[in-house]
Amino acid sequence: MRRKLRKALEVPFPERWRALLAERTWWWPTLGEGERARLEDLIRLFLAGKSFEGTRGFEPTEEMRVLIAAQACLLILDHDFGLYDDVTSIIVSPSAVPHRGPRRLDGGIESDEGTMLAGQAMLHGPVLITWDSASNQARHPERGHNVVFHEFAHKLDMRNGAPDGVPPLSAELKERWEPTLRSILGELREGTAAGLDSYGATNPAELLAVATEAFFDTPDALQRDQPVLYALLEAFYRQDPAGRRAR
Ligand SMILES: [Zn+2]
Repeated sequence: MRRKLRKALEVPFPERWRALLAERTWWWPTLGEGERARLEDLIRLFLAGKSFEGTRGFEPTEEMRVLIAAQACLLILDHDFGLYDDVTSIIVSPSAVPHRGPRRLDGGIESDEGTMLAGQAMLHGPVLITWDSASNQARHPERGHNVVFHEFAHKLDMRNGAPDGVPPLSAELKERWEPTLRSILGELREGTAAGLDSYGATNPAELLAVATEAFFDTPDALQRDQPVLYALLEAFYRQDPAGRRAR
């Protein structure tokens, strides 16, 4: 596997992937030269090291694989690729998947067919992404929803067990983390927290996932409405997407 990953970096990053990312994400053009080179490495490692599978005979296209990999890797831009060791595979479904069960789930939309699932991250298992949601959301970042950012934030959270909104953190960050999340969760439940989707009120794990979506998709609004949370995520992800956009 190590050899496979090393070999992946020997192949130049295809120009058509750069064009695709420039066209389909708002943030690709904001990256500095070093950041872009680093992300190109991560994307190639991701595509070589993780398997992509489709549901029921569906075959994920190159466009799907590259866009999902790029968004997943943006989260770990300044971290080690090993953070995704636990991501075994990515299952791509062309559209939302019916789900039965009492729990409210990611992208859960009540319909006549039951609950529809837009994505799911499984502990020590694969990540499910539904392409119509992912594709739409990448086109409309201003809405602040992104199933790829959401599910991969859960995966980072799961690095120390079941998702609880507290991934492995430095002692300094941990001290700020829990009080901040607790206070925002309270505000969300009272309906007074601006800049975040109300789904974050479900529990601390969903709050982290929803906050991650906002951090990478609507960073200016999050920084304005939730400056303490923004600073916390900036320290965690070691990135400043709002500052990057302003440059
Ligand atoms: Zn979730």
